[in-house]
Amino acid sequence: MTTLHNLGFPRIGARRELKQAQEAYWAGDLQLTELEHVGKSLRQRHWALQAEAGLNLVPVGDFAWYDQILEFSCLLGVVPGRFVQEDDQPVSLDTLFRMARGRAPSGTPAAACEMTKWFDTNYHYIVPELTADQTFRIARDSLFEQVDEASSHGHNPKPVIPGPLTYLYLSKGDSFTGADDNAKLALLDNLIPVYRQILHRLASQGVEWVQIDEPILVLDLPDSWLRAYLRVYDQLAAASDCKLLLATYFGALQNNLFTTLELPVNGIHLDRVRGNDDLGQVIPRLGGKVLSLGVIDGRNIWRTDLDAVLDALVPLRNALGEQLWLAPSCSLLHSPVDLDQEDSLDDELKSWLSFAKQKLNELSWLGRALDGDSSVNAALQSQREALQARRSSSRIHHPEVSQRLADAATISRDRHSPFAERIAQQQNALKLPAFPTTTIGSFPQTREIRTARRDWKAGKLNDAAYTRQMQDEIAQCIRYQEEVELDVLVHGEAERNDMVEYFGELLDGFAFTRFGWVQSYGSRCVKPPIIFGDVQRPQPMTVEWARYAQSLTDKPVKGMLTGPVTILQWSFVRDDQPRAQTCRQIALALRDEVQDLENAGIKVIQIDEPALREGLPLKQGEWKAYLDWAVDCFRLSTVGVADDTQIHTHMCYAEFNDIIEAIAALDADVITIETSRSNMELLNAFRDFRYPNDIGPGVYDIHSPNEPGVDWMVTLMEKAAEQLPRERLWVNPDCGLKTRKWEETRGALANMVEAAKRLRAAG
Ligand code: GLN
Ligand code: ZN
Repeated sequence: MTTLHNLGFPRIGARRELKQAQEAYWAGDLQLTELEHVGKSLRQRHWALQAEAGLNLVPVGDFAWYDQILEFSCLLGVVPGRFVQEDDQPVSLDTLFRMARGRAPSGTPAAACEMTKWFDTNYHYIVPELTADQTFRIARDSLFEQVDEASSHGHNPKPVIPGPLTYLYLSKGDSFTGADDNAKLALLDNLIPVYRQILHRLASQGVEWVQIDEPILVLDLPDSWLRAYLRVYDQLAAASDCKLLLATYFGALQNNLFTTLELPVNGIHLDRVRGNDDLGQVIPRLGGKVLSLGVIDGRNIWRTDLDAVLDALVPLRNALGEQLWLAPSCSLLHSPVDLDQEDSLDDELKSWLSFAKQKLNELSWLGRALDGDSSVNAALQSQREALQARRSSSRIHHPEVSQRLADAATISRDRHSPFAERIAQQQNALKLPAFPTTTIGSFPQTREIRTARRDWKAGKLNDAAYTRQMQDEIAQCIRYQEEVELDVLVHGEAERNDMVEYFGELLDGFAFTRFGWVQSYGSRCVKPPIIFGDVQRPQPMTVEWARYAQSLTDKPVKGMLTGPVTILQWSFVRDDQPRAQTCRQIALALRDEVQDLENAGIKVIQIDEPALREGLPLKQGEWKAYLDWAVDCFRLSTVGVADDTQIHTHMCYAEFNDIIEAIAALDADVITIETSRSNMELLNAFRDFRYPNDIGPGVYDIHSPNEPGVDWMVTLMEKAAEQLPRERLWVNPDCGLKTRKWEETRGALANMVEAAKRLRAAG
């Protein structure tokens, strides 16, 4: 019998029950016992689903309040001093919540811990904060309690914990310089004994297998870290009464492969969807270890080509027998929960998709097929037919799109003239003062705006009434910007619920789910669109709104688009062609939109690319190829315009050091970025690179409700002017204003304009 298991199941619940319960608890509307009850019933439901699908082991520890790394920090007693409560032994749930969000129904509020992206996913974890002499102890029992809980329901629990090296790598602390600082390795002497206690305790609960996640093994690791693996796992394995399954995911092990295979663990999991390590090298080095292969994509929503997977598995099964295990590629945390609830997708499209629950079935069909169980043939056959239909569907392939893509090879990727000439022409056309002021695009989204959009979508508001209401919003927004004397105006984006969804809904090739939520962080979930087919633009998407806005003012109004890389990055992307190709299709659609905006008299066009950086591959060796096509797509969208049309871009982060060359290669006339929280230090990358084009370093943090002072913003801009030529500088907030209230926005922008005036007066 093939052993089937799972690295983790989404904890949010098919209807985001966990979100609702946590938010109600935080708001004081739900008791702690009620919250705990919701957690318990979700765990039971998810274990039952996995067991019913035929999995031999169910993961425990994948359930987390807020975040699994935070849970583990609490288990290890890694609670920064500012959260420590005298009576807090063991670490309480409210302390966990205070670490995540700064406050909880009980306990003293304190500055929340930092949150950052989980590898190259859209999930965010809470960064552990360690001191140079950090101690560890078992300080929270929930993992052990959940193991008992799973056993008592008749399941075979496989606890999932982060490995010690991955845990240290993901942590930060004042005494450490970076993720792979060797100084962190000194903490292993304190940490390993606690891991041994954890394993000991799990063994005493009857646990046979423990999954230890070491995803950093797919990164480029320094030798010192790789060597530490051998030492650490010798110490863990020697003391463990449980069997250890070392899990890696999100890529191939490459240079780390042989070291990993040497570790004295009982099994190793490899991601076979995103990793391509040579199994011919792996098998002879297994030495009796279990090889768990992740063959179902945990990061996307497409049904698996089971025939292709089986073809690859059969010889492996012959070589390895029951030493071969099967699983999804990574935790299903990154998949939506259950396709069965989708009642608004058509049957054909639905037959191409697989969410977490469906992926478990795929896994079990694979296992049974490998075991020679012919009762799965019907399931395999229907899967085969669905995939066949998808491959040949006329909804996916549009010859005119492929033709256009082929022709695009010969389109120039350069503006007509270099920046120095363009900017002179633009200044002539736009007549902007020094230190021009602008905003990033969105203005506050009031309840009236949201209601209007919702009613229109639901058919309760007709097109004419909806258009009138949006036009009123635009008119108010323009009037306000004129009053406050901003220089380059925006229409305010009232018609957009989300910067990707808005465009996806107007482009061919996109589909939307009702419940396809994926956890982003804490109680926040996102519902990415699905790019299933060739992308093209049936008609202009933003032109009428922009034209209307421009008709109300003599000042330039920026046309506002989301860039091709960001649309790609924040969607589930088709797996039947390279990402770069899908991105180019989007780029061509946007190119038409840019052209139409220009023809409509829009002189300034902004193409937001906030997701450009997060698309960076995990391995540095793959960066260049990615940045090459990403930059190419941006340029394909933008370079068709006349020299005196000004192209802006926007990115809401500020770590530009490692991608500054690519940023410059975008050749946008103006880039607006987030810098206010770093005191402009992050402009160093631009200074050192001698970044040539215009730049608007954000002068205030739109995430904070506090009103930024004039002096503060003038000081920040003076700092910027020490690093970059004054005449290249713009004055703007860090990001869009849609989450702010009007009361906050008015004061902030008035101060910002005042700051620009003072800068001009200072010469
Ligand atoms: N134009 C968008 C806005 O202002 C940009 C949002 C973003 O960068 N995330 O809302
Ligand atoms: Zn932004």
